[in-house]
Amino acid sequence: MAFFSESKWVWKNGKIIPWEEATVHMSAHGLHYGTGVFEGIRCYNTADGPAVFRLDAHLQRMFESARTYGLPIPYSQEELAQAAIDVIKANGFSDCYVRPIATYGSASLGVHPRNCPVEVAMLAWPWGAYLGADALENGIQVTVSRWKKFSSLAMPATAKACGQYLNSMLAVQDAVRCGFDEALLVDEEGVIAEGSGENFFMVQNGNLLTNDERDHVLMGITRDSVITLARELGYKVFVGQMRLEELEVADEAFFTGTAAEVTPISALDRKPIGNGKPGPVTLELQRAYFAATSGKDPKRQEWLTLVNAKTEAGKAV
Ligand code: PMP
Repeated sequence: MAFFSESKWVWKNGKIIPWEEATVHMSAHGLHYGTGVFEGIRCYNTADGPAVFRLDAHLQRMFESARTYGLPIPYSQEELAQAAIDVIKANGFSDCYVRPIATYGSASLGVHPRNCPVEVAMLAWPWGAYLGADALENGIQVTVSRWKKFSSLAMPATAKACGQYLNSMLAVQDAVRCGFDEALLVDEEGVIAEGSGENFFMVQNGNLLTNDERDHVLMGITRDSVITLARELGYKVFVGQMRLEELEVADEAFFTGTAAEVTPISALDRKPIGNGKPGPVTLELQRAYFAATSGKDPKRQEWLTLVNAKTEAGKAV
């Protein structure tokens, strides 16, 4: 089945329109220069019907990305939250991925986007495990990319902007060509940054270690969720620089991301991490994460936005 075949409707510039009509012109500024910002959000099935995971946090980051680039989004955060709900409902999805994007349209092609309209869309489609069907269970093979992670002095890594993904694309394309599942990007000094579309964690002596914006990473919402859940489970989480040498002695490592969820890393450049199998800490955090996304963690209900409003009796309609 084609990737997008189940998606029939798109929210675009305030209206729900047929998928086939949600097009851009070849002269669009965003197409030529990658001038746009976007988000990746997941909606999960719960006992109360479909629920969008951390919708507010994602939209807040989208508005921050837009502000960083001076891109005026002509809708409020509340309007985009409603657009996400509307596009999920229109397509009749429960488990799905939601992709808002705000990008400069067609008016001129000088690098300065002056006069170009900002086009906003919200797509949704079913998207299973991002890194392959058995990645969540068995872990993935990762390689250190020869493409270095760009510095935030060159482009703001904390913003989720379209053109920035050329760096990620080069890295993952290379990794897959060489038989790996995903790339790990490091900076020019060998300091670990992140995956092509995920944040990176390692586990050492029962403690968790991850980095932050000082190492030119997107501040992932899954990263934040996992840190919260880990601390609640009693783990210490250290946030600081991670070097490749330290990974040599790590017991476990994993990626986090909306698409990749909590994906164990079994080996780096074919050298097993720990015993080469998903470790107990990774698996415990993965379970805790899925408990939260599926609405089974009573403490994490505030992370979920129900697609169908609750009735008086508390049942979703
Ligand atoms: N880093 C990069 C480069 C990403 O593209 C993503 C995916 N959005 C992440 C990290 C993880 O972010 P999040 O957990 O918010 O999806």
